[in-house]
Amino acid sequence: MSRLPICLSLAFAFSLLAQPAHAQRSPLETANAVVQASLDRIAKGSPSWRAALEAIRGTARRAIVVTSDQVLVADPATAGRLDRFDDTVLAEVAPVPRPDSRVDVVLVVINLALLEESHRKARSVLSEFEADLDRILVHEIYSHAVPYLLAGHLSGRCPDPAAGERATDACSIRRENAVRAELGLGRRTSYGLDDLNITRRPRR
Ligand SMILES: [Zn+2]
Repeated sequence: MSRLPICLSLAFAFSLLAQPAHAQRSPLETANAVVQASLDRIAKGSPSWRAALEAIRGTARRAIVVTSDQVLVADPATAGRLDRFDDTVLAEVAPVPRPDSRVDVVLVVINLALLEESHRKARSVLSEFEADLDRILVHEIYSHAVPYLLAGHLSGRCPDPAAGERATDACSIRRENAVRAELGLGRRTSYGLDDLNITRRPRR
């Protein structure tokens, strides 16, 4: 879930949001080939994911997946000053609401550079990197972006675990685990990063 409101640089945002709505377009857009390959793997393996995208496809709503070097973050703590994305955060989701709280666009930001660097340090093989990217995108997109897009409204929010709540009972983790099961990506049992390959012991 987003901790900070995220805004794209103005020129980039204009080019994305000015695109005419088209019912047949994929509800997930990205210009990044590594991200696109992950979205394709998830769609191939998960019937739940495919059904959700099919339900959104008939609307003009969509999620735009960008990498963290493409966004600037407006931090309320610094009077809205624009900063680079926090380079210690792996991913964030930010719905783009209209004044009446309707949501047609959700931004998903993935810190691909941080994930790649973490896997370099862990001496991962490619399949371990890909599995973590898939897990992260399943969480951000299926758990957070899709419920907003299905509702078309901020009321679609699917929260992360609240303080004191068991992680596996939270809306976001339940949705994530449903798709992980279909993909054979293991079950997430905590809200931390324990269930990602990057947190296992490095290869020797
Ligand atoms: Zn979350």
